[in-house]
Amino acid sequence: MFKMKIALDVDGVIADVIESWINYSNQKRTLISKEEITSWDFWKKFKINRYDFYKELAMCWKNWNVLPPMENNLSEITQSLSEFGQVDIVTARELSTDIFVKNWLELHDVVYENYISVIDGTLKANLDYDLFIDDSPLNIEKFIENKKNFFLYSQPWNRNISILKGKRIHSLLDAVSYLKSKN
Ligand SMILES: [Mg+2]
Repeated sequence: MFKMKIALDVDGVIADVIESWINYSNQKRTLISKEEITSWDFWKKFKINRYDFYKELAMCWKNWNVLPPMENNLSEITQSLSEFGQVDIVTARELSTDIFVKNWLELHDVVYENYISVIDGTLKANLDYDLFIDDSPLNIEKFIENKKNFFLYSQPWNRNISILKGKRIHSLLDAVSYLKSKN
C-alpha cells in the first residue's frame, strides 16, 4: 500500500523561533514586531548583520526549553498528520543545534519517524517526499521548480508570495483538513 511521505519543517512551522529571537533582539535593538517581518531577509531592512541574525537564532535554540511552539496542540496534530503517512522532521540548520531541536521535539511530544537535517533549506526539494510543509519562500520556489507538493505555512514573511489556492495553510489543522478532503 502507498504510504505518503510528509516532510515537516521546524522553524516557523512547529517552532516559533522568531518569537524567541524578537524577545532577545528587542532588548538590545529598536523594537520589532512579528508583523514587521515581511520578507525572508528582513534583517537587511533593519540593518541587522546576517551572521548576527543566524548566530542569534542558534542561540535561541540553545534555550530550547523556553522556545515556544507555533501551535499548542503539537502532539495531537502531528499524530493526526501521521495517520496520512510517514511524518519526518526535515529541517535546515546549523549542525550544532540539532540536539536542541531533538530535545524540543521530545519535550512537546511531537510525533515523527525520522529526523533529517540539511545544511540549506533549498536542498529539501531534492529529497524524496510526497508533501512538504514549510514556511520559507525560498524553499517554496524550489518545490515549484522541482514539481513537489507542498503546503505553505502562512507567516508574515511569506504573505507576499502568490501561490495556488489550497496551498497556503494557516494552521496544521488546515493541512489535516486538506489531506482528509483528498482521501
Ligand atoms: Mg521554516
